[in-house]
Amino acid sequence: MSNVVVVGTQWGDEGKGKVIDLLTPSIDVVVRYQGGANAGHTVVIGEEKTILHLVPSGILHERCLCIIGNGVVLDPKVLIDEIDGLHQQGYLKNPSRLAISRNAHLVLPYHKLIDQLREEAMGASRIGTTGRGIGPAYEDKVARIGIRAGDLIDPDLFRSRIEDVLPFKNRQIEMLGGKPFDSSELLELGAEWSRRLSRHVVDAEGLLHGKIRTGARILFEGAQGTALDVDHGTYPYVTSSNTVAGAACSGAGVGPTMIDDVLGITKAYTTRVGNGPFPTELNDEIGEHLQQRGKEFGATTGRKRRCGWFDAVVVRHAARVNGLTMLAVTKLDVLSGLETIKICTGYRTDNAVVDEFPSSISQFVGVTPVYEQMPGWTDDISSARSEAELPSAAKAYVARIVELTGVPISIISVGSERSAHITLSNPFAK
Ligand code: GDP
Repeated sequence: MSNVVVVGTQWGDEGKGKVIDLLTPSIDVVVRYQGGANAGHTVVIGEEKTILHLVPSGILHERCLCIIGNGVVLDPKVLIDEIDGLHQQGYLKNPSRLAISRNAHLVLPYHKLIDQLREEAMGASRIGTTGRGIGPAYEDKVARIGIRAGDLIDPDLFRSRIEDVLPFKNRQIEMLGGKPFDSSELLELGAEWSRRLSRHVVDAEGLLHGKIRTGARILFEGAQGTALDVDHGTYPYVTSSNTVAGAACSGAGVGPTMIDDVLGITKAYTTRVGNGPFPTELNDEIGEHLQQRGKEFGATTGRKRRCGWFDAVVVRHAARVNGLTMLAVTKLDVLSGLETIKICTGYRTDNAVVDEFPSSISQFVGVTPVYEQMPGWTDDISSARSEAELPSAAKAYVARIVELTGVPISIISVGSERSAHITLSNPFAK
């Protein structure tokens, strides 16, 4: 058995898509377990760039089964567009390779409208959500007024769910100053979505357990990152789901005893999209270097990402709450050309230095990072395929990340291309 959870260790966008794609030849099944179309993974193969919001990154390898688990909230329109895009690029020739859990909740047009109206109404204290309806869809799930993929493919059930729920949603929309929805337009959309998606909607938990029984190797794909987890992140500037490795169990329907390893993905520096604390943020020419060289624009929103030095406090926190057993460091190539590189080892407050991740955002106010400095390197490292080919300063930097986080490194990524990486140990080769 070799079942591995892959999680982001920072504020998302760590390059999970690329790492999952390069691991996929060793995997039989990829299951996405949380989040929605607010996440976006970018996979580059040769000249071709594929951005995936909902479909697991394993879809780009012909033999891999991809499951959208019950923990995901699913925007049918986004998923259909993504499936069409994959067909156009010559992928997904066998539709049974994409399975959607019957229990995955839907993101419906009223969720998106409520998300946007609420952000507008919040003014300066807005969260900076992507406006894709993810938060409102998770709220409905917990309030037990959500509508699931299994409901969508049963026309009578879908109609009765919409008729029950829509009056509540419309009242909320009117309160926020928006235009209410007519049930007929939603039923029409539902019929079209059902026509396109019903072949994929299955008992995904049963399917997954069948695969586990045959000894299949499973990768559980997380979206966003640990510092955006609704419980363990910088609340309230977080996403609306648990992003940590434990959520793989509830979001895919497996027990913790079925997980063998947890691979944390970390950028060699830090980025964040949206509002909220970010102690190592750089608003200078080095931040600009990271933003430009790292092409730090959101895959889903196109928003410019905030950039800063590597923050070991954040990644140590991720090591703890996810139980990381290994790390993949991405985008090491982006640091090439910097004379000096800084690593944050702790936060200085008025009267102390703390090395633990603050549990409340009020404790981030006024903290300044405590930095260590290391020499940089000038060589282009994107063609390195073994650790020995890295400049000694780059090796020393990676070794310091291991010391500060206490987690061994299994992969170092040195470019966006599929082949641009150094594998120290393959998590699935055990
Ligand atoms: P994800 O959501 O964690 O998969 O991250 P994104 O896809 O939003 O962002 C990662 C971006 O970095 C993508 O454009 C990748 O192609 C790119 N990328 C991943 N690894 C590397 C790397 O090692 N070097 C460089 N230069 N780019 C990388």
